[in-house]
Amino acid sequence: MTSKRTPEYYKGCVIGGAIGDALGAPIEFMSIDQIRSEFGEMGLTDYSEAYGRNGAITDDTQMALFTAEGLILSKVRQEYEGDKGVVSAGYHALLRWLYTQETTLQNNLIQNHGTCSIVDGVLTGYKELFSLRAPGNSCLSSLKSGKTGTIGDPVNNSKGCGGVMRMAPAGLAFDDPEKAFHFGCKLAALTHGHPTGYLAAGTFAALISLIVTGDPLTEAIQDATLILKADKNHEETLRAIGNAVDVVGKHPPEPEVIEAFGAGWIAEEALGISLYCSLVAVDDFKKGVLLSVNHSGDSDSTGSITGNILGALYGIDIVPVRWREDLELNELIEETAGDLFDQFQSQEKN
Ligand SMILES: [Mg+2]
Repeated sequence: MTSKRTPEYYKGCVIGGAIGDALGAPIEFMSIDQIRSEFGEMGLTDYSEAYGRNGAITDDTQMALFTAEGLILSKVRQEYEGDKGVVSAGYHALLRWLYTQETTLQNNLIQNHGTCSIVDGVLTGYKELFSLRAPGNSCLSSLKSGKTGTIGDPVNNSKGCGGVMRMAPAGLAFDDPEKAFHFGCKLAALTHGHPTGYLAAGTFAALISLIVTGDPLTEAIQDATLILKADKNHEETLRAIGNAVDVVGKHPPEPEVIEAFGAGWIAEEALGISLYCSLVAVDDFKKGVLLSVNHSGDSDSTGSITGNILGALYGIDIVPVRWREDLELNELIEETAGDLFDQFQSQEKN
């Protein structure tokens, strides 16, 4: 088992996710019939315009970047040391994302949380992130509520996929998959209070952690599932994972097979669809991400999660160069992946 805890795999995971997000962006709200009538029988096969450009990222990548920044700052800042510190750094990072989305709330946010929590970090220095890219309701409303959601004191009962789609950085941050699961759940519970909403996120973080440790995908799924099963509320997420794994190889992969798992708007369906697409793609990044966006559901989120998985498995070299070049904010995204590696890997190994 060869460890993939190198910058190439960290970048593969983060950039791969952003590319899947950008591919799904123009078709997020289209049915498969609409996609086929606009792009042909094969569906979408390349970047297409969304938000005024090709390769535009959406809220999925924005929130993954802010989650990464929260984790990075939790490591940099001594005051964020410890369990509680990681989650509060993650919360402050999401408040900074909210600051980019709700400009009318900016003064209130600063009054309630102080400039240190809101304006700190490097991401708020990028004006391109001050852009609404169909942000999820649960994420916006939970953060606007001023309440810090926890597993014990849920902020809502949402199991939308907004927790899972942003959680790959937690898998890259923690070598120990149990720890990745633990923090993935807690960071997701900031905005998603239904057990499946945060358990799917924790399971995804554990999966990414296992993959970069060197597990092949099937083993990583088995091991992440074992961690999930220790939680009493695991049934729904476990069933979605099982359904995805069971169907691999039984039918030719096509949108109708994916749609049998659901539409991906909710957490366990988004994870199930992404696992299926990643398993079917093997080492073909293009095949996997295109399969994961061409369906009637939440294309950018399933594209993002699938891109994270395949990029973590095979590294940045598997990602088509032109898609990397044409990706919005590609330098910032690559730098963030590099910062995650630097903070969580290179220092510990020195
Ligand atoms: Mg989105």
